[in-house]
This record gives sequence, structure tokens and C-alpha cells, in this order.
Amino acid sequence: MIKTSKRIGSLVLRLNRTYSSTCSDLTLPNGMSYKQPTGLFINNKFIVSGHTLITYYPATGKPITSVYSADSDDVNTAVLAARSAFETTWCALSGTERGILLGNLSRLIQKHQNLLGCIESWDTGKPVKAAIQEDIEECVNVSRYYAGWADKLHGETIQPFQNKLAYTLREPLGVCGLIVPWNYPLMLAIWKLAPALATGNTVVIKSSELSPLSALYLGNLITEAGFPPGTVNIISGDQATGAALVRHSGLNKISFTGSIATGKKIMKLAANNLTPVTLELGGKSAALVFADANLEQAVKWCHLGIMSNMGQICTATSRILVHESVADKFISLMRDTVVKLSKIMSPFANDAFHGPQISASQLAKVAQFVDSGIEEGARLVCGGKVVEGHGHYYEPTIFSGVKDNMKISSEEIFGPVVTIDSFASTDEAVTRANNSVYGLGSAVFTNSISLAHDAARKLQAGMVWINSSNDSDFRVPFGGYKQSGFGRELGEHALSSYTQTKAVHLNMGTTL
Ligand code: NAD
Repeated sequence: MIKTSKRIGSLVLRLNRTYSSTCSDLTLPNGMSYKQPTGLFINNKFIVSGHTLITYYPATGKPITSVYSADSDDVNTAVLAARSAFETTWCALSGTERGILLGNLSRLIQKHQNLLGCIESWDTGKPVKAAIQEDIEECVNVSRYYAGWADKLHGETIQPFQNKLAYTLREPLGVCGLIVPWNYPLMLAIWKLAPALATGNTVVIKSSELSPLSALYLGNLITEAGFPPGTVNIISGDQATGAALVRHSGLNKISFTGSIATGKKIMKLAANNLTPVTLELGGKSAALVFADANLEQAVKWCHLGIMSNMGQICTATSRILVHESVADKFISLMRDTVVKLSKIMSPFANDAFHGPQISASQLAKVAQFVDSGIEEGARLVCGGKVVEGHGHYYEPTIFSGVKDNMKISSEEIFGPVVTIDSFASTDEAVTRANNSVYGLGSAVFTNSISLAHDAARKLQAGMVWINSSNDSDFRVPFGGYKQSGFGRELGEHALSSYTQTKAVHLNMGTTL
């Protein structure tokens, strides 16, 4: 037991923690064994705390393990560790050195890609192949991409007069609190972590209470990659842990991904210290299928757009509007595709597509939405039932004849439920797509270039997909309009979320 305290600026870091390595020997559903860290990852060590939380396998509803959960003292320890690293070791490194460490991390994630994907699948119920080949592959790419940016952050020079010169410096913000949801646990953490580190910040990551395992495993890789202790701290915990982090006066930035309801709470809490926030929130993305669209392609994309990850995607194209001349044909093709790919499978099956919802409460929420759709008069085309005796599975569900004011059409379900209705004109389609408090994405299916671009300009969404859906790429900005949030992740845009600009004025003359 270490019982010292350390003053950093006005903040006191209490070090009366038991520093002991904590991990569980676990065996994944596919028989693979590994050591799962369970402690709070602070200063490159896994430490115990006074609280724990249990994480479950959604395909069976059975517990996987328990991990340590951070209370406000632990949050304080993590923030102070990040502050100390920011002011001492991390700020002493050049951009090139930061890039080398991020490159190391990218290679280590790649080395552990299979295991990390399996952990992610176990903790969230997502199909293992997608977890390995999409989520973790994205982590490799994103960390490598921002490794490249770390030594390319330049200011500008401005010469307003002959004897006056000004230049700008792009400086890090300091300690960033990164709060992530459960649907893409490691990927969304890396989306935030990589640009934050590339620009010279230190971080405290708060994972979701429903899926803490992959972020903790990342702690091993942070140490192995060579990051100075305190640069990256990873804590598990629920909303109380998140709120304690947001309230902490030692934070210089909060980057949050999650629901609109939580986003609003975070904004209010952050206002106390005027801590800047970036919010990536929910969505109710519309897909517009015009009469001239390639219907088979539109169905393929619309199906992936809503049913991938069991509908638990912020950008899910959950509202489909189809031109009245092709609506019946579209609905019939969509039903065939959904039914064909709705087989209930273990997430660890090689060809699994449809897995469980994350939790019993998420399953109940999906079921309630479906009940409300039936009560409000929408027509159930397929699905509509909980799969009994199989963990948290829900049948992929299609409703047709859905009006814009129905709950299933206006609120985010975050499950495998899609609504379809027809439209008569382009104006009607765009107006109805925009008739939402959300503004994350919109898809447009047409063979007309001018119609596609015209719709793209008029749609009130942070992302528009033409003849695809849910496309995202680490080089392209990602984020929402309206209540889907503000600030951008990915691409060059994310760098500005983690930097501030300093103007330096230089007087080169002898007069005023
Ligand atoms: P959530 O808002 O319930 O929780 C997200 C995170 O915030 C969790 O880590 C949680 O513990 C924490 N949290 C909860 N209350 C808090 C509080 N008061 N203060 C601080 N932290 C708090 O969301 P969820 O259920 O985990 O995720 C689903 C939601 O996330 C959906 O609405 C989905 O659309 C959204 N999402 C958005 C994006 C995006 O990029 N726009 C991506 C993925 C998910």
C-alpha cells in the first residue's frame, strides 16, 4: 500500500491505492483462453477499487466476469495521473515521437486483432467475424492514420504590416475525458483516443458498463507500445462514474458518444467548469429510394444499414421512404432479404449475421417499440417477436404503412426494426426525411446524378450516402446535425476537436 499524496497545480493526487495486478483467466465461447485485465488502468498499472460491476454474454445472458468500477476518488486519481503525464512526460515528446508510439499501438492492435475481436463479440454479442474484420480492423487503421498526423500539425504565419509578424501555434487542450457507449466499444474509444494523443493530449477513457472488456485489454497494449504512465488511463463504471468524470475540474475536454438524453446531461454538467464538449449522439436516419433506383442494390444497402450489428448502430437507416411506384416491389424484396438473413446464431458462428441485443433491458425496449407500432396501426411485414430461450435475441422486424408521427418512426429504437412508407414527390421525400430532431445520416438511392446531389444538399444530416448506407471511413469526417450532436470525429476534422490555437504577435520595428 502506497500512502503518499502529490500536488499538481491546485489538485491533490491521493496515492493511497493498493497497486496490485488484477486479471481473470477466462475462456471464450470458442475455447480460446486468455488473461482479462479487470482493474482500473491508471499510470500503466491495473489497480483495484472498492466497487465492481459484472459484464454478461448477451447470447446467453450469463455473466462473463466482474471488473473494478471507478468511484469519484478513482476518477480523481485517473484525471490527476493524466494531468501529471500531460505536464511532464507527454509534453516533452515531439510530434514524431508521439506518432511512433501511436504506430506501435496500431501494430499491437493488429497483432492482437483476433483476440480483441473475440473479446468484443463475447462482451457485446456482435458477430465475431464483423468484430475482427470491421471493428478491430478500424482500430488498426485509425491509430495508424493519426500516427501519421502527429508531426504534421502546423500553425500559420500572418504579416499584417511590414514590421509586424504574427504566427499561430496549434496546442493540445490538456486532459481529455473520453466517454463511449457499448455498441462499438473499442472502435469508438480509438476514434477519440488516436486524434487526442496525436495532438498531444492525455486521456481518461470511460467505457460502458455493458462492455468494459476490450478497453481494459487495450491497457496492456498501451504499456507495451511504450506510452509514458498516465498518458492513457482507462476506467470502467456506470453513469455515476461518467458523471464524476464530466464534473471533474481537471478536465480540459469531454468527448462523448451515446444517447441524446445523456448528451444533454453531460452538457449541463460540463457547463459548471465550461469544459468544451463534443457530442456524437443518436440518429433516426432516413433512406430515400427513388423510382429510378437499382432496387436490388437499394435493398442490399438498406438491409445492411438497419440490420448490421442487430440495428444497434447510431447511423442505422431505420426509416425507409420509397417512391410509390416501386414501394410494393421494394417491400417484398426487403422482406425476402431480412427473412433469409434472420437466422438466430451464436455470435461465434463463422457465418453469423444476426446476434442478440446487448441486454435484457435493450431487448425489452425494442419489444415495447414494436408493440407501440402495432397499437398505432402500422403493418407488421415480418418479425415482431422476442426469440424465447436464446439470450437477448429479437427477430429482425419490418413495418410498412408507417406514418411520421408514430413512435417507431420518430424515436430511435436502436434495434433490428425498420419502418417503410411511400412518397409521391421528391419534395415530399426530402421534407419527411428532415422532419426529425435527429440529423446524423441520410441515404439516397437513384441513378440520377442531379437528383442525388440536389437531395444531398437539401438533407439536414451530417452524412449523406448516395447509393449506399452507413459508409464511414477514417479519412472522412463523421458526425451529426441537429440533436445528433456537434463536433466531428475522424479525418483531419477530428484534430481540431483536440487542439486550441494560440496567436503570437511579434513586433519587429522600433515604433508603435
Ligand atoms: P448512453 O448515453 O446510455 O451511455 C453512453 C455512455 O455514457 C456510457 O459509458 C455510460 O456509462 C455513460 N453515461 C451515462 N450517463 C452518464 C452521465 N450522466 N454522465 C456521464 N456519462 C454517462 O448510451 P448507450 O446506451 O451506451 O449507447 C447507445 C446510444 O449511443 C444510442 O443513442 C446511439 O445512437 C448512440 N451512439 C452514437 C454514435 C455516434 O457516433 N453518433 C455512435 C454510437 C452510439
